[in-house]
Amino acid sequence: SRRKLVVGNWKMNGLRAQLGEVEAIGGLARDYPAVEVGLCLPATLISPADGVKGAAFIGAQDCHMKESGAHTGCLSAAMLAEAGASWTIVGHSERRQDQGETDADVAAKALAARAAGLKVILCVGESLDVRDAGNAEAVVAAQLLASLPDGAAADWLAIAYEPIWAIGTGRIPTMEAVAAMHAALRAALASRIGVEAEGMRILYGGSMNGDNAAELLALADVDGGLIGGASLAAAKFAPVIAAA
Ligand code: 13P
Repeated sequence: SRRKLVVGNWKMNGLRAQLGEVEAIGGLARDYPAVEVGLCLPATLISPADGVKGAAFIGAQDCHMKESGAHTGCLSAAMLAEAGASWTIVGHSERRQDQGETDADVAAKALAARAAGLKVILCVGESLDVRDAGNAEAVVAAQLLASLPDGAAADWLAIAYEPIWAIGTGRIPTMEAVAAMHAALRAALASRIGVEAEGMRILYGGSMNGDNAAELLALADVDGGLIGGASLAAAKFAPVIAAA
């Protein structure tokens, strides 16, 4: 069975003054050893977090697809790994939108991360227009298969389903819709990687918090969460981890 994976995505939040929250969340991870807990931090906090991370892992939020070169302002996967990251997010909808990242870019970033020894959370999710048009499962399954790197395997890759319209809005899909999407994504994975899909974690993300986590995490194909706002403080993150 799949070990639950609960990961905070701090996005562009966090200075050294917030390392106490990292430390408290690392302590929570120690209290819930059955759950794999991590924090994807701003790159500037990855190294400072190393000494206080407790039983949590530290991840990055993005990496470049190339190993090195003339890419001002970018960070390679090896740099992030050296700083102390063991995971990275790729393909978050905010980067697909703000930085114009394509499915092919996302797959290339996942491979670059893997080559540097990072595990990967690959994000997919639909816009509100797609949801309202009624074909979200087909669109997101296609996005997933187009973003999936060669050699995708459960021991280094997890998927995060994040409906764009649920991110930071306080709105979430119905439990039926989440269950249907996660089942569709697992079926899409199985079509590409066969039985390996059975072991791959598929996380839910988008306004996940202590009030809705238990219901979401009880769904058969929901193997964890990717949490933004509710991961910034240990007191708010704690009930999400406890629900897993
Ligand atoms: P919120 O939990 O703040 O809605 O953010 C979700 C998200 O985008 C995590 O990657």
